[in-house]
Amino acid sequence: MNPDATLISDTKNTWCPGCGNFSIQHAFKNVIEEFEKEGIPREKFVLVSGIGCHAKIVDYFRLNSFYSLHGRTIPVATGIKMANPELKVICFAGDGDLYAEGLDHLIHAAKRNIDITVICHNNRVYGLTTGQYTPTSPYGYRGRSTPEGIHEYPLNIIEMVLGSGATFVARAYSRNIPLLKRIMHDAISHPGFAHIDVLQICATFFNVTSFYDEHVYETSEVNVTQFEMACRTGQQWNYSDPGPIPLGIFYKTIRSSLPEKREQKKVDRMKSIQDILTGHS
Ligand code: SF4
Repeated sequence: MNPDATLISDTKNTWCPGCGNFSIQHAFKNVIEEFEKEGIPREKFVLVSGIGCHAKIVDYFRLNSFYSLHGRTIPVATGIKMANPELKVICFAGDGDLYAEGLDHLIHAAKRNIDITVICHNNRVYGLTTGQYTPTSPYGYRGRSTPEGIHEYPLNIIEMVLGSGATFVARAYSRNIPLLKRIMHDAISHPGFAHIDVLQICATFFNVTSFYDEHVYETSEVNVTQFEMACRTGQQWNYSDPGPIPLGIFYKTIRSSLPEKREQKKVDRMKSIQDILTGHS
């Protein structure tokens, strides 16, 4: 890949004006440029997307990528990481994609602590299919398929990924680009499963910009290694109540990840074979 080539591809961009996906794309471009300055070449990054408005992001970058099936970003990313642990594998997924159809993959990836980064473009609506409700739409949400409003409460994703064993859990907002960039950089650098829930504005079907602007705040991040504190921060907002809505890194801890365990097993196996061959067993 030509290092001078711009990271943004020539593909025609079809996101709506005002869509929060532009901010996510902009922040991620900056983060890749930062990693390049730190000596990690762009060839080391692989992007995996699901299906939805978010998924077009892989077309808009001149980076190695895999456009997968609805809800299946994590199995594809897991396979890539297991085949080549040297790569930095990043999933871009939507809330309908990841928190509905792909939910079981999310839980098990967090449980395994597979060393990948998941960035969820959480606009709390199915944008590509014109506004149906998702697992994080608020109670009472009226969409085209639910004109009388939904009578179920949203999933608290932060609590769920914490409870599943994720070793890096954060929430960002598409209108706070400096924070988004910092969290993305930290998540990709984290040796283990990293989950970022990005509150992303859908300008066309669920525009809650004023609501978010009024209710988000940045946490101090002083106790990010304390699990109970992270759970309490995650419980502050359940995607339905008014808020306040905490942003930032909620939890970060180090635990051996799946590729590391596999590598250790390989080393142990080689040692056993050598011991047998040299009569040291
Ligand atoms: Fe963005 Fe919503 Fe338009 Fe999709 S429908 S491109 S999420 S503004």
